[in-house]
Amino acid sequence: MNHEVLNQPPPLVDYNLFSTDHALREALSREGAAWASAQVEEYGAKVGTAEAIEWGVLANDHPPVLHTHDRSGYRRDEVEFHPAWHHVMRLAVENGIHNLPWACPRPGAHVARAALAMLASQNEAGHVCPVSMTYSSVPVLRHESTLAAEWEPRIHSTHYDPSFRPASEKAGALVGMAMTEKQGGSDVRANTTRAEPIGNRQYLLHGHKWFCSAPMCDAFLVLAQAPAGLSCFFLPRWAPGGEINAFHLQRLKPKLGNRSNASSEVEFHGAWSCLVGEEGRGVATILEMVHHTRLDCIIGSAALMRRALVEALHHARHRHAFGRALIDQPLMRNVLADLAVESEAATVLMMRLARAFDEGDRTFARLAVAVGKYWISKRTPAHVAEALECVGGNGFVEESMMPRLYREAPLNSIWEGSGNVIALDVLRAIAKEPEALERVLDEIRLAVDPRIEKFAAGIHADVSQHDGRRVAERLALALQASLVMRFSPPAMADAFCASRLERDWGYAFGTLPRGLDIDSILRSAWVSP
Ligand SMILES: Cc1cc2nc3c(=O)[nH]c(=O)nc-3n(C[C@H](O)[C@H](O)[C@H](O)COP(=O)(O)OP(=O)(O)OC[C@H]3O[C@@H](n4cnc5c(N)ncnc54)[C@H](O)[C@@H]3O)c2cc1C
Repeated sequence: MNHEVLNQPPPLVDYNLFSTDHALREALSREGAAWASAQVEEYGAKVGTAEAIEWGVLANDHPPVLHTHDRSGYRRDEVEFHPAWHHVMRLAVENGIHNLPWACPRPGAHVARAALAMLASQNEAGHVCPVSMTYSSVPVLRHESTLAAEWEPRIHSTHYDPSFRPASEKAGALVGMAMTEKQGGSDVRANTTRAEPIGNRQYLLHGHKWFCSAPMCDAFLVLAQAPAGLSCFFLPRWAPGGEINAFHLQRLKPKLGNRSNASSEVEFHGAWSCLVGEEGRGVATILEMVHHTRLDCIIGSAALMRRALVEALHHARHRHAFGRALIDQPLMRNVLADLAVESEAATVLMMRLARAFDEGDRTFARLAVAVGKYWISKRTPAHVAEALECVGGNGFVEESMMPRLYREAPLNSIWEGSGNVIALDVLRAIAKEPEALERVLDEIRLAVDPRIEKFAAGIHADVSQHDGRRVAERLALALQASLVMRFSPPAMADAFCASRLERDWGYAFGTLPRGLDIDSILRSAWVSP
């Protein structure tokens, strides 16, 4: 028999991740996807069930296993996943998180998908990798009409089919991306993988990729050196003749986090592929995909912050120390409110950016996505670490989910352009497309507030690489301030401006100044189920 257990918060299960999130709910309608409310609501309930939460736990406790060869010594190159991985994948694919804007191209489809992806990542971040890459691959496939005609219908399917067979025999398909090589990831011009032309836009690839996530996808977009320079190729796991393509998995990476997802090292030994776009224009071609996956890095980071915040709020509401609930302790209230403001600002910015994709507002998105990717993914590790501390010692223990969030937190700032590379991209966008900066400044000016005006006046186009991070940070904060001022509860907006713009703030979370309406911030942060 156990002794009586006291003062331990109940597990946070069986709640709706969507209906308890006012910022996401309001943004879904505001940014043009009110029509998707019922589906997002239903999905939010599903991923909040004890069952779905357990799938996330199991998929990470039982990481994928690589089988390079069969028992007779033949190559197999298959990855085996725990059934829980397939459950979360099936749920995501059935909800169209991998294809919604392409399969149902209606206004608001990117926004609806962003909301769904945010809920998926809050439950289990790893599986969103292949889902995101598939979504992002479509604009690139459309460079080749025959390829798009053959593969888009497979991607449009909402059947999750994990079987290892030629895509023509499957009920649905997923697509990955492999650019990074051992000698250089950010600098893809250093790629050494060679593409040997065999005629009719077909090539054999020879070389390797150092990171190739989700290798059980049905096909990959790959960069390789063709005679005219670095080019983009489409490489299916099965060659057109019906044989397994020469895509050989070397090992799966033992990673800090993102453990449910397989990230492989792979070699190509004459792998069949076809050219996408022009030879020598590989970077320009694949950038379209990268642009979309960068949006997903923002969504994924906003999701991690949201989940961490909710876990911290839940704990603080139920846990008592020194005579009252933690949520009633003034200093804890300062910490939680500060975390809530950060999470709110991330959510409103990510949903505004998703709308730019719906509207085809490329000028705005070109700069604003880089700015958002830099800042929101950069804020996540500190945010999640602080939320973990709110849960005390329990937060350091695996069952609380906080260690998984913490391990995942730095990733979105590394892949799809690490912090410096993105900050340099912000400078490049400003230098090459001055109208992009004007568009972002116009958006900032939509909020009429002297604090925002003063802060934004410090943004200059003429800057050196040395200042790249400062510029990206300032633009992000001004953009978030403008959105929060227009769309969030006034108490959130006041706290954001006082701390992030006027710098009445410390270096750690929990240093908001006095005089703010902390009560309102905490009340709106999470509608407790
Ligand atoms: C879990 C995981 C999964 C991944 N999956 C994939 C995948 O599926 N497909 C794929 O193609 N890649 C994948 N990647 C690779 C990822 O995109 C690269 O790791 C990333 O782009 C950085 O490249 P790199 O590792 O070669 O680092 P480097 O390019 O060597 O960069 C190292 C550091 O130097 C900085 N840096 C680089 N250039 C400059 C500069 N000019 N000025 C200042 N600083 C600079 C970077 O910001 C970074 O901080 C994955 C990575 C991880 C961690």
